[in-house]
Formats: sequence, structure tokens, C-alpha cells
Amino acid sequence: MVKAIVGANWGDEGKGKITDMLAADSDIVIRFQGGANAGHTIINDYGKFALHLLPSGSFNQNVINMIGNGVALDIPALIKEINEVVSRGVPKPNIVVSERTQVLMPYHKLFDQYEEERLSDRQFGSTKSGIAPFFSDKFSKIGFQVWELFSDDELLKEKISNVLEVKNLLLEHIYHKPLIDKKELFNTLKEYGEMIKPYVIDSVKFMHEAISSGKNILLEGQLGSLKDPDFGIYPMTTSSSTLAGYGAVGAGIPPYEIKEIITVVKAYSSAVGAGAFVSEIFGEEADELRRRGGDGGEFGATTGRPRRMGWFDCVASRYGCRVQGTTQVAFTVLDVLGYLDEIPVCIGYELDGKVIRDFPTTNKLEKAKPVLKVLPGWKSDIRGIKKYMDLPENCRNYIEFVERELEVPIKIVSNGPNREDIIMR
Ligand code: GDP
Repeated sequence: MVKAIVGANWGDEGKGKITDMLAADSDIVIRFQGGANAGHTIINDYGKFALHLLPSGSFNQNVINMIGNGVALDIPALIKEINEVVSRGVPKPNIVVSERTQVLMPYHKLFDQYEEERLSDRQFGSTKSGIAPFFSDKFSKIGFQVWELFSDDELLKEKISNVLEVKNLLLEHIYHKPLIDKKELFNTLKEYGEMIKPYVIDSVKFMHEAISSGKNILLEGQLGSLKDPDFGIYPMTTSSSTLAGYGAVGAGIPPYEIKEIITVVKAYSSAVGAGAFVSEIFGEEADELRRRGGDGGEFGATTGRPRRMGWFDCVASRYGCRVQGTTQVAFTVLDVLGYLDEIPVCIGYELDGKVIRDFPTTNKLEKAKPVLKVLPGWKSDIRGIKKYMDLPENCRNYIEFVERELEVPIKIVSNGPNREDIIMR
């Protein structure tokens, strides 16, 4: 049985925690998109970890963790992450990598940085991990699949020459930066090949057999619906699909095998990078929520950047669940709101004198003003509560209000950052 765990918002919903928790009953956990540009924070018996490329099943010895073909694979970053978790006492995770996964090149990071420099005040707020140049190259058909690193050296050299022809023209004439040396790049790619070879498998065969023998499989998404390049706040999105539907492609499995789509929805809003954010709050109100948010504040797991903060957005989250094809919601970081007397939630967008409930295209989003409804707070610490009925009444009312707005059942409530801070409904 295949389940997908994906985000309905702008990312940082707590997917890592939910995946780590559900990994205990899983055989395979797969990253199917994205790259090392965002992070999942996981707190368990081994300590606190920020994972970027490693699937969140990496702490369970019974789990095989796969980097699917849909991922932007930064090979040194993956190896560094494996070594880091091992150096902190975690048994070496079981990692496999699809032979068709494409390799993030050293120059993708450079081009990401150079392009943001060129754009200056129009920049996207990229994490400069090379993700946008990587996916541009993949779809321009000048990317490198993993198998190319250790197959035919002559073919690899020829391809490097062809690709560098255009890369060096851009470096010279657009960016005015040092050119890339063919031989050096070849040697780097051969080193990458040696590093990754022990992990590489035929993932289509592997997944076919896993599904046939009834294995429990989790697809783990990065970021959330609103960062999806098709349905998100384009162009202020990421470069690979964040949707469960893409999980079939990015993991190499039939779409009809995905039986459950667990969409992680956060009890308030946070976002990184530029782009419209209708329920955004500012000043002292935002600082306090940021300081109290997540586990030890809402700051980027990869970059340390302060996240933008906002109230819960019913319009964006309902849409976020809809485009995922949500079968159930995991509602997270609810404990953080326990300090508020009253909790505003955004229930509509005011646009040209009308109130709308459907998430609009980016041009309209920029002009939309939030319509807020204020719900009473519960003014208490709900961490440690294990049963839904033991939650304060106002807290249950908040959950049930959100559930009606989302139009899908909230079956999991997360009331703290640790594995055991969870209420199943
Ligand atoms: P992901 O990318 O979706 O996995 O999310 P991140 O790891 O970037 O951000 C979620 C943050 O919230 C992390 O610091 C988690 O440890 C933390 N977190 C997850 N669930 C909860 C929760 O229920 N309560 C609190 N207080 N923190 C949580």
C-alpha cells in the first residue's frame, strides 16, 4: 500500500515529523521531488536533525530509503548528510538511489547564485542550491542521469564538451564569471560516480517488486501545494511538482497505487521566499508567533532565514488540500497557538469589492485582502495530551472549524515537535 505525505501550504508544515512517525510501520520511504534546498526537522530519540535530501525514514533500520528519479540529487550533500547522522550515533541508514535520478552539477549552484545577483531586487529569494538551473537543464535535455557517471567515459567527455559550450557562453557574456574547465568537471563527475555507485539501483524493478509483495510505502513530499510550479503562486514557486500526483512519476510507480494522501496542514501560516501571502502579519504580532513557532522558532532549516508569518488561511489551505487530492489531513503545530486570547483565521479574500473563497491566480492574489474571523483561544499548553476529547473545548472548536473549511477530515493532530506528541482521531 502506498501513502503520500505532502504539504498543503508553503512548506514547513511538519511533514518530516509525520513521515518519521509513520516510518515505523513502513518498509520503504521515498523522496520523489525537490532537492537539498529545503529541510525537514526531525526530533527523535537520537536528537534533533535537519534533513535536506535524506528521506525521513532514515532513523528506522527496518526502512529502505529511496531517492527517486524525480529528485535533484546533490551527491556530495547526500554523502555529507549520511555521514552526519552516522557521526551522531544513528545506525547507517539504508539508502538506495534510482539509476535515472539526475545529478545536480556544481555549476547549477553557481548559475543559481549568478542569476539571483543579476536579478538584484527582482530576485526570487532562491536558497541558491541550484534547483532552478537543475530543472531547466533536465527539461532542456542537457542533464546527467546517475548511470552516466560510471558508464562510458568517452560519451561522458563528449557530453560535457557539448554542455559546456553553452554554459561557458553564458558565463562569459551574461554573467562575466570564470569559465568551467572540461577536464576538471570530468574528474569531479567521476568522483561523484564513485561516491554514489554503491547506492544505485534499478528503481522501477525494485518498486514493482515491492508493490507486488505488498510492502508499505511512503512517498515524502518537500515544500507544499502553494510552491507547486503549476498550481502554486507561480513564478514564486519551486521548480519541481510538490503534489502527490507527481509522486507516481518521481518514484516510478503506477498512479493508481497511491491509496492515501495525507496532507499536512499547519495551524497557522509561514512562508519563505518572495510572493503573495494574503494572511501575512507583521511587526510585534509576527515576531511573537515566529519566536514561539515550530520547534524553537520559525527559521529556515536550510538557510536559517526568518520565515514570513501569517494567520491560518482557509482559502489557501482548502485549495492546497484539493490540488493534492487529500484523503486525510494531519493538522500540525497546534500547541504553538496556546498563548493567544483570540485567534484570527482568514476565511475569504476581498478582491475588487467582492469576497471570494476560491484561491485565485497570482495577479489577483497580489491584490487580495484577508477577510478575518476571530475564534476564541484556549490559553493553555496542550502538549502531552494524548486523547482528542482531552483537548480544551476551544481547541477542539478551532480544529473542527478548520476541518469544515478544508472539507476533508483531520485525522491526525500534532501537538508538539516530538514523535510521541500526536493525537489520532
Ligand atoms: P517540513 O519541511 O514540512 O518537514 O517542516 P519543517 O521541519 O521545516 O518545519 C516544521 C517545524 O515544526 C520543525 O521545527 C518541527 O520540529 C516542528 N514541528 C512539527 N510538528 C510540530 C508540532 O506539532 N508542534 C510544534 N511545536 N512543532 C512542530
